[in-house]
Amino acid sequence: MNGIEKWLEKRGVTIEDVAEIVYNLQRPYNADLQMDECRDSVRAVLEKREVQYVLYTGIALDELAERRLLPEPLQAIMEKDESLYGVDETLALGITNVYGMIGLTSFGYLDKMKPGIIRQLNLKGEKIHVFLDDLVAGLAAAASARIAHGDPKAIRYHLPESP
Ligand code: MG
Repeated sequence: MNGIEKWLEKRGVTIEDVAEIVYNLQRPYNADLQMDECRDSVRAVLEKREVQYVLYTGIALDELAERRLLPEPLQAIMEKDESLYGVDETLALGITNVYGMIGLTSFGYLDKMKPGIIRQLNLKGEKIHVFLDDLVAGLAAAASARIAHGDPKAIRYHLPESP
């Protein structure tokens, strides 16, 4: 298990949790889809350094808020999970964007429906998951987009051809 998987697990999120969301997102479009492909896709997204940096940053802010170490007004905003804050969603888009526009629709859907582990992270307890719920949605959306591209080993950005 690599560093970022350990960070996620320590915050209550496993590869399996994310893979389940990916499976449910993609299964309607792909009758042959296996859970193994979903796990592999989540791991492949997690291998990207820019994805790891986003996750480390968001998780660190959640943990600092739990320890009441953030400066005001940020501490109060994080404790309330202020709906107008929005930086959690913005940061999560840094993960979704890795696989282009396809991930964006899924991210919006997951943010609204909050399936599986995303809903559990949203339940109010003494833990603060302001960032993590969105980061998991972003991760699942990216892993799902990666499968939707149908060419997992060679994801290309859809940039216009140069003249
Ligand atoms: Mg949030």
